[in-house]
Amino acid sequence: ESTWEHVAQAPPDPIIGVTDAWRADTDPRKLNLGVGAYRTEDGKPFVLQAVREAERQLSADPAENKEYLPISGLPEFCRLSRGLALGPTSVAIQEGRVATVQALSGTGALRVGAEFLSTHLPPAHPRIVYLPNPTWGNHKTIFAKAGFQVREYRYFDPASRGLDFAGMTADLASAPPGSVLLLHACAHNPTGVDPDAEQWGRLLELTREGRLLPFFDMAYQGFASGDVDADAAAVRRFAEAGLELVLAQSFAKNMGLYGERAGALSVVTRSKEVAARVESQLKLVIRPMYSNPPKHGAAIAARVMGDPGLCALWKEELRGMAERIKAMRAALYDALQQRGVAGDWSFVLRQIGMFSFTGLTRPQCEQLVSKWHIHLTLDGRISMAGLSAASAPYLAEAIADVVS
Ligand code: PMP
Repeated sequence: ESTWEHVAQAPPDPIIGVTDAWRADTDPRKLNLGVGAYRTEDGKPFVLQAVREAERQLSADPAENKEYLPISGLPEFCRLSRGLALGPTSVAIQEGRVATVQALSGTGALRVGAEFLSTHLPPAHPRIVYLPNPTWGNHKTIFAKAGFQVREYRYFDPASRGLDFAGMTADLASAPPGSVLLLHACAHNPTGVDPDAEQWGRLLELTREGRLLPFFDMAYQGFASGDVDADAAAVRRFAEAGLELVLAQSFAKNMGLYGERAGALSVVTRSKEVAARVESQLKLVIRPMYSNPPKHGAAIAARVMGDPGLCALWKEELRGMAERIKAMRAALYDALQQRGVAGDWSFVLRQIGMFSFTGLTRPQCEQLVSKWHIHLTLDGRISMAGLSAASAPYLAEAIADVVS
């Protein structure tokens, strides 16, 4: 008998499971709208030209080798990553009060950040994190594993398929001081709903008044609007207001480096001295977990960001990805209008980033899968990146059927 005879079968991951079901589906009309990865008009994964060129340069560079990186990662990558997020005129960066380490993409940055906070928040602070409802499913587990009590704040309003700002601010106003407040920097996953500039201003005040610690998850910088600076506006505003904050960055989506696991964790502090001590402790979190991060993805990202020509090409390609997604929103909206599908679907145009939260019920989603071979998570989230001009009318036809 096996030592692990008693081990129960774990449930499949709700998102990864969608792609498995799509792969197993033999119907030629099948669509994968579950995956949170960009696809071309032909439904293919996309390797950016800027990334290909950076890789070519790296493999031709005799100075490149396969030595270990430092525990905190590639210094150039860390420097460029925080600059990308906080901006070229960031006072916090100029004053040297930002501690940055390379991380295993956005997930790893969140996990290292959560572990650091769990150990190094002041002893009197509660270990409570406030997450939006709904949020990316992994957030709960990441913070719970790091010892946090997880609480939710209202976020999505099913009636308007927009932001429940009154609910959100009411919940945050009652959060105990010292709580961690997780905010999606832009392109909220799964809803595609972001606060507007005025609402961000109010959230900043609430954060300050309530003495909450903002933890920004920035997995889609540039992917929302097509512009890396515009998408960083909220984070920059908090930093410029002099607040301390934590920031998780991912290059999975905006550079298409999904499997390369390139990301960064930054902690914005009040002084250079504190930043140096924080960085030393971040290394102590990393060392016993995986010792040091992988080199290739970070080296690519650093080349792309650091070379003016490659950086310009990247930003152009990033804009192209964002534009294609916006075009798919319009294509779906138009096709729904043409079919006269009941209800107001203008939220499809208003929502931001890769996803749209459709409000389709679980039984409706199940019907999309079983009858129409359209694969999606059963919360009604669809990845706009999985659509094409050719498949948008098919999706509209299917939605018309399941909502009637
Ligand atoms: N945060 C959010 C909100 C996300 O949507 C994702 C990716 N789905 C991540 C973090 C982390 O992604 P990765 O680890 O691939 O960078």
